[in-house]
Order: sequence, then C-alpha cells, then structure tokens
Amino acid sequence: MIESDSDQLLKYKYIFPEKYASEHIVEVRDELMRRGIDVLAFDDDTYIDCAIWELPSGWNNVLKAMFSKLKTLGWKSDTKLHYNFSFGSITIEGLRDKSNVQWNEIVEQFIVKLHQTCCRCSSKDHVEHFEDEFLCRSCMLEIFSRRTVDDLSDKGFKFYNSPIYSNEEGFYQFI
Ligand SMILES: [Zn+2]
Repeated sequence: MIESDSDQLLKYKYIFPEKYASEHIVEVRDELMRRGIDVLAFDDDTYIDCAIWELPSGWNNVLKAMFSKLKTLGWKSDTKLHYNFSFGSITIEGLRDKSNVQWNEIVEQFIVKLHQTCCRCSSKDHVEHFEDEFLCRSCMLEIFSRRTVDDLSDKGFKFYNSPIYSNEEGFYQFI
C-alpha cells in the first residue's frame, strides 16, 4: 500500500480512522487540506473508492456493482463493509452492522460473486482459492511458471520468492 498513490492512501486513512491513532488522523486531515483536498466534501462515494482501492484490483467491477446496488436500496457509508487482511489473505465478512436484512443479502450474494472472480485479472475461468487468493486458471499457471529453481550449482541456487501482500513484488533469491 505504501507504494500506492499518496492522495489515495491518505484518503483511505481518513475514511477508516478506526485503523489509526487519532493524532495520526488529525495529521492526515491537515495534509489532505494542504494538498487542496477538502475532507468535508467526503461522502459515500469517497468511502466506496477507498474500500475498492484497498481490495484487489481484479474485484473492482464486482465491488462497484455491489455498492451501486446497495446505494439504490438506501445504504449509506456509515454501515461499513467488514473485511480483514491477514498475511495476504482477505476475508470479507459482510457488513459490520447486519441489522438491514436486504443489504446483508446483497453483500452475501456479491461475496459469492467475488469468490468466483479472479482477484488479479477479473476472469471467471475456473476460479479457485489458491494460497490466500481467488485466482483463475491462467493466473495460477503464471505463479507456477515462475516457481522454478535455476542456476543450480555447488554454490547454491536461485528461486522465485512470491509476494505475501498484493501490493508487493515477488523477487528472485539466491541461496
Ligand atoms: Zn486471473
């Protein structure tokens, strides 16, 4: 996330204040204002942008469709989506406040759709949960194709170290 667009990162921090210390949120607000971004104008769409931005890019369109359906049913961003990241694995639990049955049903239906959509490329081709991600066949094959052991000698060998978080790059390591 650190490598990502800095305005978007700051907006994200401001929209999800529960994840950060309150003094930090004050600094974030001041920095956004200094950059000419009016935090007072933030609305439901700002929340949606930030949530979509944090989740894997292959899911953007499914999430946009979910939020637009929720909005037509009167949903507001004070009923936040509940999701967790743990070592690269994302779990979307539903809405934090589950009292609206209709909104809940929509979110449940879309969670099923997300799990059928590749979180990297949006394909729906044989999507499976593989090493903490929901991946289509070709994205899974791409991961396998990079996992080769090369330059094998008595000094050691080279292998691909895959990223833990979606915002990280994989790298080759020599042993
Ligand atoms: Zn894919």
